[in-house]
Amino acid sequence: MSDKVNFGDTLVSPEEKTRRVGAVFSSVARRYDLMNDLMSGGMHRLWKDRFVNRVKPRTGEAILDMAGGTGDVAFRMARRGAQVTVADINADMLAVGEQRADARGLDLTWKVENAEALTFADATFDAYTIVFGIRNVTDIPAALKEAHRVLKRGGRFYCMEFSSSDWPGFAKLYESWADKLIPRIGKAVADDEQSYRYLVESIRRFPRPNAFKVMVAHAGFVRANAEPMLGGLVTIHSGWKI
Ligand code: SAM
Repeated sequence: MSDKVNFGDTLVSPEEKTRRVGAVFSSVARRYDLMNDLMSGGMHRLWKDRFVNRVKPRTGEAILDMAGGTGDVAFRMARRGAQVTVADINADMLAVGEQRADARGLDLTWKVENAEALTFADATFDAYTIVFGIRNVTDIPAALKEAHRVLKRGGRFYCMEFSSSDWPGFAKLYESWADKLIPRIGKAVADDEQSYRYLVESIRRFPRPNAFKVMVAHAGFVRANAEPMLGGLVTIHSGWKI
């Protein structure tokens, strides 16, 4: 890889982006769950509940929760009886997740993996989920291709991601909250303004729901669908492998 890519609003090499994203999540890992509540006013919990309702995990099925971080989405799916593998490029996020799983008495598999080049065999999983993770991946088409490869035939792909909102009044309100307050909360709570500035910039840069839907279809998924909420600020994407 040689062309420059965006790390937030800064252009860097792909390798440098992957390194910097790693540093962001290592830095925020310990405070990640508290910060999610503060940044979203607790809304991320409702979004994750809705997401898992769409996935409809079934008892015994194998689900890969990619970029699963500290396990928030994986725990919801494991509680419904699914065999969940939580994979993430960042060992610090997974370590926090494993501690949280122990405290909750939940049994999951934890694995360091890069979404762009998975070590799992073809057709391993019944469902693949990725929540607030794919915008951090350097080569998104490569990650979508890998998602398709590791799913069984009939497997479900689900992704939830932020983008900008097209509700003019709400978008303005969100922009000032995101630009002014999120980095300040990041500084006060996690002593890390820069990482939270990156998270806000990466949300603004992520494709709008319809554009991402096209990328999902290009990766080979059928019935690619986008379900935008709050004017596209958060969207649940889905697709099937046939
Ligand atoms: N899914 C979790 C949630 O919703 O709470 C965590 C989301 S967190 C915002 C984004 C996660 O993506 C981080 O844990 C980060 O390490 C992970 N990540 C970034 N790039 C990745 C990649 N190339 N492969 C796998 N995980 C990646």
